[in-house]
Amino acid sequence: MNGATGGSPFRPASLFPPWAHPAPRCLTRHPRRPLKGSASALPLPAWPNLAHIGGMPRRTQPVHVIGGGLAGSEAAWQLAEAAIPVILHEMRPAVKTPAHKTGAFAELVCSNSFRSDDAELNAVGLLHAEMRRAGSLIMRIGDAHQLPAGGALAVDRDGFSEAVTATLRAHPLIRVETEEVTELPPPEWGMSIVATGPLTSSSLAASIQAATGADRLAFFDAIAPIVYRETIDMEVAWFQSRYDKPGPGGTGADYINCPLDRDRYCAFVEGLIAAEKAAFRDWEKDTPYFDGCLPIEVMAERGPETLRHGPMKPMGLTNRHKPGEKPYAVVQLRQDNALGTLYNMVGFQTKMKHGEQIGLFRTIPGLEKAEFARLGGVHRNTFLNSPQLLDEALRLKVLPHIRFAGQITGCEGYVESAAIGLMAAKFAAAEALGGSPKLPPLTTGHGALLAHVTGRLAVPGEARDFQPMNVNFGLFPPIEQPRADAAGNRLRGKAKTIERRRALSRRALAEFETWLGETQLLAA
Ligand SMILES: Cc1cc2nc3c(=O)[nH]c(=O)nc-3n(C[C@H](O)[C@H](O)[C@H](O)COP(=O)(O)OP(=O)(O)OC[C@H]3O[C@@H](n4cnc5c(N)ncnc54)[C@H](O)[C@@H]3O)c2cc1C
Repeated sequence: MNGATGGSPFRPASLFPPWAHPAPRCLTRHPRRPLKGSASALPLPAWPNLAHIGGMPRRTQPVHVIGGGLAGSEAAWQLAEAAIPVILHEMRPAVKTPAHKTGAFAELVCSNSFRSDDAELNAVGLLHAEMRRAGSLIMRIGDAHQLPAGGALAVDRDGFSEAVTATLRAHPLIRVETEEVTELPPPEWGMSIVATGPLTSSSLAASIQAATGADRLAFFDAIAPIVYRETIDMEVAWFQSRYDKPGPGGTGADYINCPLDRDRYCAFVEGLIAAEKAAFRDWEKDTPYFDGCLPIEVMAERGPETLRHGPMKPMGLTNRHKPGEKPYAVVQLRQDNALGTLYNMVGFQTKMKHGEQIGLFRTIPGLEKAEFARLGGVHRNTFLNSPQLLDEALRLKVLPHIRFAGQITGCEGYVESAAIGLMAAKFAAAEALGGSPKLPPLTTGHGALLAHVTGRLAVPGEARDFQPMNVNFGLFPPIEQPRADAAGNRLRGKAKTIERRRALSRRALAEFETWLGETQLLAA
């Protein structure tokens, strides 16, 4: 690595004492170049001023954070604010990705929205609220650069990422290295957090594969939609496994089945072919479709009967509600989490636009009122089979000095990626200070997301099919909720959902505060 001894113009060398400079193997393949809008153009911070973090850096080795995206920026900030020195490695602008345009940290590669900011009724809004309470840099700067967007938190993308960059570069405990890290950090580096995102450079990806096994790192996702169980009409659908086979760990009635007659099936296939699809970006066009995970519309294009002999085959299934009527085709949904709140549509990965998916899937009998925790997609996306590879505190089981954070762990979205970065930093900080990581409760947005990524609540045996997901209320353990409103009317439908979400959010925020208090005590 370059620059282990070179000082940044932003901090006196004395703040990075010799113990903060291990002499790691040189992994740099590209010359260091200053970031665009060069560091020297930024105002000098009033250093050394560490009063807010106790006055002195902790006497620990620095933690290496690799990748200055949403997750890496948040992780570096959280560590530095816990008075732990950080070396932040970011390859841009020296080495580019196909999607990023600048050399700034936390660049938003597409939309400028952090999605809903409603902390009562929306799971990502709840995650915003938790992150704000945890002193998140991404949320603080997002709030400072927000643009009008109704109930969503949208940000001025340039102002946002420039401010994140300036803040991190100005922090006296963060040293920035502009370089590609081409191999997993060796143990001599001490604790490291890899947050290189969905477009991790190919050399680092190869190194990850060498350490974990080639089939444990995916380069494309193949996402089937996920439905909230409570929104499936069980007067139409029924539980049954094909041929009633229990299989390992099953009961013989493990799938939810939705029947289609001939007319509905033909209309559905036509709908698939006619639906508008999301285009691949130029650099995604070489998407290798594996025969096992072809988008459903690609199968439909191969002939009208293809799906009836593939994921929609009716064989071995009898409609419990109408035993005398043989379904022409069947859509099967499989339990997606141990709580039993989420079911995925088996084999329904798709490039259809989101609106088209909702409209078409609601023509399936039993799914007329379906609400979707996740819609289908196929994207270029480098991600780990985290439930198999990571422990519950995000450490790589085979190399526990390395943590992973951000989208590479199998979450989706700017906010979720930053939230995983926040947790990885809190866990690393606890260890750096001689303690052990304390996991956020499953009832919080952070805990629910972490459980998805690390497979804490996975259905046994499903880890091999791990696919990325946004935070959603289906990941939260159920809660007792009032059955009637204040006037004594029984809660039903939408009103019931609203009350349930309110109750989940109240519980989440209360338990998150408790967790935060405990993690701060650990770091004190
Ligand atoms: C094309 C595209 C569009 C997207 N659109 C959206 C959207 O609209 N909304 C949304 O919420 N999410 C979107 N996402 C997902 C989004 O990228 C992530 O949610 C988020 O940016 C992930 O954060 P991260 O920190 O994990 O990764 P990133 O933000 O990608 O950060 C990873 C960083 O690591 C650096 N890096 C990679 N390899 C190395 C290496 N070897 N050495 C040093 N540095 C390295 C990269 O340059 C990058 O800065 C999109 C993703 C892609 C690819």
